[in-house]
Amino acid sequence: MRYVEVSPGEVALRRGAPSPLPPGHARVRVAACGLCGSDLHLLRGMVLPRGAAYPVRPGHEVAGVVTELAPDVDRPRPGERVVLHPLDVCGDCAPCRRGQEERCRRGRVLGLQVAGGMADEVVWPARRLVAVGELPLERAAVLADAVATAHHALRLADPGPHGRLCVVGAGGVGGHVVQLARALRPEVEVWAVVRSSASAARLEAMGAGVVLGLEGAAARLRAEAGRFDAVVDFSGTAAGPAEGLAMLEVGGRLVLGSVVDEPIQLGTTVTGMVTRELEVVGCYVSTLEDLRTVADLAREGRIDLSASVSRRLPLERAAEAFDLVERRPPGLVRVVLEP
Ligand SMILES: [Zn+2]
Ligand SMILES: [Zn+2]
Repeated sequence: MRYVEVSPGEVALRRGAPSPLPPGHARVRVAACGLCGSDLHLLRGMVLPRGAAYPVRPGHEVAGVVTELAPDVDRPRPGERVVLHPLDVCGDCAPCRRGQEERCRRGRVLGLQVAGGMADEVVWPARRLVAVGELPLERAAVLADAVATAHHALRLADPGPHGRLCVVGAGGVGGHVVQLARALRPEVEVWAVVRSSASAARLEAMGAGVVLGLEGAAARLRAEAGRFDAVVDFSGTAAGPAEGLAMLEVGGRLVLGSVVDEPIQLGTTVTGMVTRELEVVGCYVSTLEDLRTVADLAREGRIDLSASVSRRLPLERAAEAFDLVERRPPGLVRVVLEP
């Protein structure tokens, strides 16, 4: 089978033997695998977490068809169309027991510690698969991270019954935060900070207010829209957190979702945080429950993923796909590889 391998500065297509099928696992023929900012991070030579080593076999946004099950599992059945939750968790540590499995102390990430889905097939625990019915599989793939992580971020932001929410950055994840807020919390007023007029038009059509460009966005929003109860930053920039913090109402909450390997800059003093009682929280991946929820919303047509996949490329053009995500042309949401 073919698979993509990433080392710092290099993307290569390799061939090798299929992975063995351990107890509790399913073999899935990959139909589509999304590329996200954290895959670019790998290419830039990020410091890898425990249990991962270069070369990495990436791909954590995966949908496909079940082809084989280990003898000890009977679900989902072969032939079923599924999306993979990108985390495997122990289910037993304190965070897992609290329902915060994204914090699992023994968690493994697909496409980081385990061979990922930029490949003809992938082997993953059967209990981490979610059925997607007749949903097109390239759209099902983006549910795994771009949409489920957005759902997690919206839960954390929790702007309140008639609160006001601003999303900074409307790429793969941020745009879905806006869409989920409109679908699940229609009474919440939503604004977004975007980089291009193409993204602006897409989010305005969803009913969000929009400002163009991150620099000085907080000041422009204050004049145009006031302050916000919650701000979610998926801008992928080092400047995003300070700009986002400056948008908050007293007692507001800033949710940070992009991986940026620079010291955090909040653009305020300790006094500024204390006297305004501000909160800053991180948002990492999602839970299986988040993925089930967004898969149901997509199947019921309550969220529209028709604009979520900007480009579809075959597996052998993986290097080109990485390059495209790096260049971020205006309006780009997700790039998906299709083996
Ligand atoms: Zn991702
Ligand atoms: Zn755990």
